[in-house]
Amino acid sequence: MASRAGALAGVLIFLAALYAADVPKLRLDDTIRPVRYAVELTLLPDGPGFSGKIDIDIEFRKPAAEVWLNAADLQIQQASLERGGRILAATIQAGDPNFVGLRLPSVAPAGPAKLHISFQGKVSTKNTAGIFVGRDGSETYLFSQFETTDARRAFPCFDQPNFKTPWQLTLHVKKEHRAFSNTPQVSENEEPGGMKRVVFAPTKPLPSYLIALAVGPFEIVDGGTAGINHFPVRIVTPKGKAYQARYAAEVTAAILDRLEKYFGVPYPFEKADQIAVPLTIGFGAMENAGLVTYAQSILLADPSTDAIQRQRIYASVAAHELAHQWFGDLVTLAWWDDAWLNEAFATWASNKTLAAWHPEWNTRLSDLGSKYDAMSQDSLTTARKIRQPIESMDDIASAFDGITYQKGAAVIRMFESWVGEKHFQAGVNSYLRRYALRAATANDFLDAISGTGQPRLAAAFSTFLQQSGLPEVSVQLRCDGAPRLTLNQKRYRPIGSAPTSNEAWQIPVCVRYKTQKGTQTECFLLDKSTAEFRLSQSSGCPEYISANDGATGYYLVNYDDAQLTRLIERGNEFLDPGERRTLLHDLQALAAAGEAKESSALDAAARFAGATERPIVIEAQSVVRSVRPLVPVDLHPNYARFVRKVFGERAAQLGWQAKSGEDSETRLLRSALVPFVASEGDDARLSAEARRLAEGWLRNRGGVDNEIRRQVLLTAARGADRAFFDSLLRELRKTDDVSVRQQIVNALGAFRDPQIAWSALDLLLHSDLDPKESLALLFPDSPETAALRFDFVKANYEALLERMPTGGSFDVGAYLPLIGQDSCDEKSRTEFVSFFEQRARNFLGGPRTYAGALERIQLCEAQRAAQGEDITKFFEKQ
Ligand SMILES: [Zn+2]
Repeated sequence: MASRAGALAGVLIFLAALYAADVPKLRLDDTIRPVRYAVELTLLPDGPGFSGKIDIDIEFRKPAAEVWLNAADLQIQQASLERGGRILAATIQAGDPNFVGLRLPSVAPAGPAKLHISFQGKVSTKNTAGIFVGRDGSETYLFSQFETTDARRAFPCFDQPNFKTPWQLTLHVKKEHRAFSNTPQVSENEEPGGMKRVVFAPTKPLPSYLIALAVGPFEIVDGGTAGINHFPVRIVTPKGKAYQARYAAEVTAAILDRLEKYFGVPYPFEKADQIAVPLTIGFGAMENAGLVTYAQSILLADPSTDAIQRQRIYASVAAHELAHQWFGDLVTLAWWDDAWLNEAFATWASNKTLAAWHPEWNTRLSDLGSKYDAMSQDSLTTARKIRQPIESMDDIASAFDGITYQKGAAVIRMFESWVGEKHFQAGVNSYLRRYALRAATANDFLDAISGTGQPRLAAAFSTFLQQSGLPEVSVQLRCDGAPRLTLNQKRYRPIGSAPTSNEAWQIPVCVRYKTQKGTQTECFLLDKSTAEFRLSQSSGCPEYISANDGATGYYLVNYDDAQLTRLIERGNEFLDPGERRTLLHDLQALAAAGEAKESSALDAAARFAGATERPIVIEAQSVVRSVRPLVPVDLHPNYARFVRKVFGERAAQLGWQAKSGEDSETRLLRSALVPFVASEGDDARLSAEARRLAEGWLRNRGGVDNEIRRQVLLTAARGADRAFFDSLLRELRKTDDVSVRQQIVNALGAFRDPQIAWSALDLLLHSDLDPKESLALLFPDSPETAALRFDFVKANYEALLERMPTGGSFDVGAYLPLIGQDSCDEKSRTEFVSFFEQRARNFLGGPRTYAGALERIQLCEAQRAAQGEDITKFFEKQ
């Protein structure tokens, strides 16, 4: 033992060090951990803010004189620490936008203690982050949205996914209101002033981002029970809209049953409420444990205006959010670098559930479209990795993109196919059991999966998690001697793409080939740049070969010329529909890389356009549309003629009007094909018919199939005059049907006449439209008005930021650079850079959006320079 004086000096230095502790940078360490929360909030939907108290049981793992918590936009009124029966007042150290420090009067030793904090917070009216207002008709509601880092706007807490604890919520609300949270209500007592106190049961251990609440004059629709424990399923709607919950009430329990069966673990919570939020921004639905929130246009629909497409979107979103109840809520990511463990899995599980539940929807074929979108994103050198390190709030804001969701889901599907569905399911089950109610990482998952029979899986999977980019596999069939394949891999690089480091993957390449004995399937793990594999099931040269069996691989295939020609010409005889769609997609991607001619991709599109499967027709449309920016203006009439030649006859047969007895595929094909020919094919007859139908619908709300109403209004608006604009606007003011409102807003954004298009944009600033709703006017699918929109943003930048949603996890400023991404020339690029380069940095996620948009412009310019001649020649002949 040292001298007494020496020991005292030591304590003083120790204290000084503690007091000098810096504000945490991004993460809280776990030297102080939350153990349990009790939150009490007073919530009045019409009030400007709310007040609350929070008690947090914490554990000091080592002595400390200061406790750091997350808090944003909260005013902390009082804070104290209770320990060993004593209450110590804490001094509040504010000043950081994400953290609050509570300085204690003396060092607290290791062990348990309890924090008491009272505070006031703001209700968000512009954004849907933290606790926010939703208005439906004349009623006002309050909701919450906490992912990723907005629980700290509702109460001070340890706002990180690794801190999983029980939460107990008590809400003071108006007597006439209903209140919802993650768990069932356990008591309700009247209070003075027309209020009541609603107490909820404690939750299972949950992270802060999954806590949820909702308050207002809601209605409840019974959706039956689900699961082996027969837990209740309910649809919660705004006042007067219970009748719109019919489809959700019919299907939600069935989706939950299927998920529970697959996961092999009972649904982890006491109830499954699905609740409608009038308008959301930055998210469509959120998987809060036991209380899933949805944008109203996804969850609810007036049966008289409902559409097949809307119902499938609900089924898909619900399956995604409900899969999260296991992947995310029961087992939670330890940190945001594993957002894919939540999002990729929920996406993959949703795809899988729908494919088995409704095979006639042919969702596997439609889902390929999302994979191609991710591949397009992944072809940028600025693309994120699936498992991108998270080093800043910017990284968190950027982590929820197509790479995390769609690439992640596609990679999972590839490895699932490789190891076999049964083995994979066993791995998933063991992972969920092992980490139930805890947090886990990518390695925990890979360990669990690898234990099921494929020792090479973890390493191979990691090559797709830890690096960005899309592999391109070239395939050569050799039949001199025993038949074999030479496979070669490299990173796919579109023309104009800057070189990156030499990425290499361990790719499970599964092939199917036709021999005299029938069709054979084999998988090879391509783990070096080039390798040769013997086709062990064939003695002679196979007649056909598909190098992406069942289209489950996440790679592009570059066939040798002889194979490619055979597959394009006679693919119907051998390739399944997914492989045919993939062949067409890959050919277009290779053309964009200069490894095939654009004219060959267009020829193939023309050949595939007559397919019976809707998603293949959509792919053919997408190939044609992708070259439009590269077509010289004077050849636009030839481009339109080509569109009519390839797709026109079928579009004319379908027409705008649904026919009685038609199947859903035909109705869905109509809504994809007819507007395409009307617009891209400049088809005067179809456009005039759209205008006639739209005007009729505006007069009496009749005469247009629900499935195609959106496209009828859009197509009519493109060439329409001011009178049509005004009548759309009048109709918008009359209806509170959120889906119909969205469709009208989309149509308002589609006018090509510059003056009318400007008037539409002006609604963003000078109208009573909720900005969450009018924001769609800035991002219509309309390249013709892109330059005008950029001018509008430049002229009104500050006013837009002032009025549009900002702060919280969604910030409109981060998305504005997307305005420029369809540019394709040097002058537009220079203007884009000079306007956005600095400005994008002011918003979370802005730098990445900016970099991606800039890269897209550069690639388009390079592609135009390289492919222009081939494209010009092709369209001169049309
Ligand atoms: Zn999700």
